[in-house]
Amino acid sequence: MDYSEIVREHSFGTWRKQSGWKPINLISAKGSWLYDDKGRSYLDFSSQLVNVNLGHGNERVIKSIEEGLMDVQYVSPAFATKARANAIKSLLEVVPKGIHKFFFSTSGTEANEAAVKISKLVKSPKYKVVSRYRSYHGSTLASMSLTGDYRRWFTEPNSMPGVVRVPEPYCFRCPLKLKYPDCGIACANYVDYVLKQEGNVSAVIMEPITGTNGVVVPPKEYLPMIRKITKENDVLFIADEVMTGWGRTGEWFAVNLWGIEPDIITTAKGASASYLPVGVTGVSKEISDFFEDHMFAHGHTFEAHPVVLSTIPAVIDEYKKLDLLSHVKEMSSYVEKRLNEIKEKHKSVGDVRGIGLFWGVELIKDDKMTPVGTYEDKYNGKPTTVDKITSYMMERGVYIFGGASWLVISPPLIINKEEIDKGLNVLDDALQISDQEFHE
Ligand code: PLP
Repeated sequence: MDYSEIVREHSFGTWRKQSGWKPINLISAKGSWLYDDKGRSYLDFSSQLVNVNLGHGNERVIKSIEEGLMDVQYVSPAFATKARANAIKSLLEVVPKGIHKFFFSTSGTEANEAAVKISKLVKSPKYKVVSRYRSYHGSTLASMSLTGDYRRWFTEPNSMPGVVRVPEPYCFRCPLKLKYPDCGIACANYVDYVLKQEGNVSAVIMEPITGTNGVVVPPKEYLPMIRKITKENDVLFIADEVMTGWGRTGEWFAVNLWGIEPDIITTAKGASASYLPVGVTGVSKEISDFFEDHMFAHGHTFEAHPVVLSTIPAVIDEYKKLDLLSHVKEMSSYVEKRLNEIKEKHKSVGDVRGIGLFWGVELIKDDKMTPVGTYEDKYNGKPTTVDKITSYMMERGVYIFGGASWLVISPPLIINKEEIDKGLNVLDDALQISDQEFHE
């Protein structure tokens, strides 16, 4: 059965011009593997969009959905349900210290919309929000406005007012043209300057590790400095852990890597391991108390959907039972070692960086570290160098997620060493494409 034709003709391929879109017809998936209608298998080396953290076809999670369906399929969010109570209990065991109350939605972008609205309500009349250029926070109005990368250009000037962007801790190509550690983490100090000069800022939102914009791990001083600066300026700190949460970095949440306690945390993807669509906005006790006598002016029909929420305890149980945080830490060192070997072999690899099972491979054209492509190239429809590499890898049975000038290695957390080797061996071969294009 070929689904691709009707899918292509009558539904949108997102973040692309429609011409040239040829969706592969996938019919099943199990563990870290995807299968097409021709009987071909593909290693899922990026867990789709960095979200199928438990891999495909997990029976425990599927059972939780069946049980959830037999319980209560839907009631208005004004009611209490067993699924919601159990999801809350499980979440409280794993979220960063200080997070006390949750708002449940159905995506990462909605989790961020809620976080920003909450910040503005709590800090009213302060209305501005600080985000970073190299960032992605989602595709709806507020989240897209906060997003710093090229994708926001299409909807400007119809953006949420009051967004102020700051440079990111991207040491490989420092936006301030400084060198770590002599820079004194100028990019963090710059946030302090911006908060003071702007005034009226309600919140700072950051991905603890920049995700779709190239897996950028900040220097160790950066986030503790940002947290201190936000507190000193009476501004809320929102950690967008839509991609970095749920064991991806070897911790439940990436903020744990630096011992940071955000005022608000947003997450989605791995919260249900993506078996059903869920978004979570978690807030501190202080914020929760504020709404005791202030209007919580937000809500959706599908908010706190009982069947969706029934996945959360099952997913958390699975992360624990499979001891995935330890497994991810162990695999992290292995991936790091192998990626560094690959970097040595390929002139087109400028940088490899990451943590846990979240790694970026940055490709360069020359000794000046010029990127092999930009987001503008990527969304202009012509195959970029990264597209050529991802297509080649797909031909060789490995699905990998590519950005403007980088590849993202973020497999299901259950992946084993042999599977990692398969993915990295194919990547190693594929990098001849960028080597040949620019360095021979
Ligand atoms: N925030 C981050 C850091 C993300 O990576 C994404 C999606 O990739 C989002 C928010 C938006 O999530 P969603 O696509 O579920 O709306």
